[in-house]
Amino acid sequence: MKKVKRRAMSVLLIILCLMVGVGVFSYRFFHDGSQWVNFTANKHIYANGVLIGGAIYDRDGNPLVHTEDGVRKYSDNKNVRCATMHIVGDKKSNIATSLQKVYADELMGYNIINGTYSVSGTGNSIYTTLDADICAAAYKQLKGKKGAMCIYNYRTGEVICLVSTPTYDPENPPVISADDDSYEGVYLNRVLSSRFTPGSTYKLVTAAAAIDTIDDIFDQTFVCHRYEIINGQKIVCSGTHHEEDFPQALANSCNIAFGNISRQLGWETTVRYARQLGITEAHTLNGIKVVKGSIATSGGENELSWTGIGQHNDLVSPFAMMRCAGIIANHGMCVEPYLIEKITDSSGFRRTLPVSPDSTRCLSRNTADQLAEMMRNNVLTKYGEENFPQGMEICAKSGTAELDGGQTSHAWFIGFCRNENYPYAFVSFVQNGGNGARVAGGAVSKVLAEIQSKTDEA
Ligand SMILES: [Zn+2]
Repeated sequence: MKKVKRRAMSVLLIILCLMVGVGVFSYRFFHDGSQWVNFTANKHIYANGVLIGGAIYDRDGNPLVHTEDGVRKYSDNKNVRCATMHIVGDKKSNIATSLQKVYADELMGYNIINGTYSVSGTGNSIYTTLDADICAAAYKQLKGKKGAMCIYNYRTGEVICLVSTPTYDPENPPVISADDDSYEGVYLNRVLSSRFTPGSTYKLVTAAAAIDTIDDIFDQTFVCHRYEIINGQKIVCSGTHHEEDFPQALANSCNIAFGNISRQLGWETTVRYARQLGITEAHTLNGIKVVKGSIATSGGENELSWTGIGQHNDLVSPFAMMRCAGIIANHGMCVEPYLIEKITDSSGFRRTLPVSPDSTRCLSRNTADQLAEMMRNNVLTKYGEENFPQGMEICAKSGTAELDGGQTSHAWFIGFCRNENYPYAFVSFVQNGGNGARVAGGAVSKVLAEIQSKTDEA
């Protein structure tokens, strides 16, 4: 009897082990299955580490990358290849935020039931909202400097241009040594994954808070003598602006006036509007993570002043600044930017249903429109209407972000076309580029001109 009992216990133990084993396997199969398949040594889907299946197209159906006779091929146009490399991805999967990396499952046609089986063995296709010509134009205008340019439709959310430099031709990747400064951060997408001091572009956030919460802001007069002492430390301005009202202070980008406004707002309101306009919030672009911005949340009067001016500890992604310009353009409603129009399988069937992008109110219509008017005034009185495509009604704010250690300032230019025939908001950023309006504004102006002629032709 004892013997039978012992045997029964052994059998029970074996069954138990088996069940735990199957459980662990099933969990790992469902949880990690795509990673096993995506493993770069898998010869069924990778040739020399290069993904074989699946194509990525621009908005006009031009292939940005596809597979032909088992060979992975990028666009025929070298400028398009360089311009879209960060979004499409390189051959070695070095870029963590690329579609080839983030959407590897979809491109291969992987699913949990069939594995990587697809009818013709070509994987799925991703149709993006990008315009290859406009991306190439942005790449050319960044002129080999480190920078970022992103443009999206503030009514629909479609991202038509997303370019990060330095970049390289994915068909002919260079040998990059670790100490080569010209390729510093080449595998980072500067639009999405990098944070920089925003400088005066940030004054838009402070201005939005002021319109909403300071009753007499449009009746106030500011006096700038180039510098003043706050809490024993200097606030320095780029010029001596004498007497100015609120719109003039934004056009002059006066640090004295915006330091004063920030102190009227206080920390709580300053922090709340940074969040409300998405500066310090987490964003994703079709599942691709965007780095979160940050600002100081407490400190003395001097730190508060510099925080509202866009200096001190302020750090933002170019993507978040573009999104902020889009909110102002769209009368305070934010339509979330997106990059993927559809994904289809090899028979052309749509695999994902179109999702109407989220839209949320971030500013009142009145506040957004008053800010838009002030940004229009900036162009007319400071940046020069003649420097931008006629008829687009460009509204903008420049930024020349000061840096420690004698580095050349970052050049920023953010804004939008108020003429809704061209419903685009943009960010243009040149790392250590110098003057914001001239360098970053000049670069994006030429790209906007291409958008205008393309739109008018269509
Ligand atoms: Zn000033």
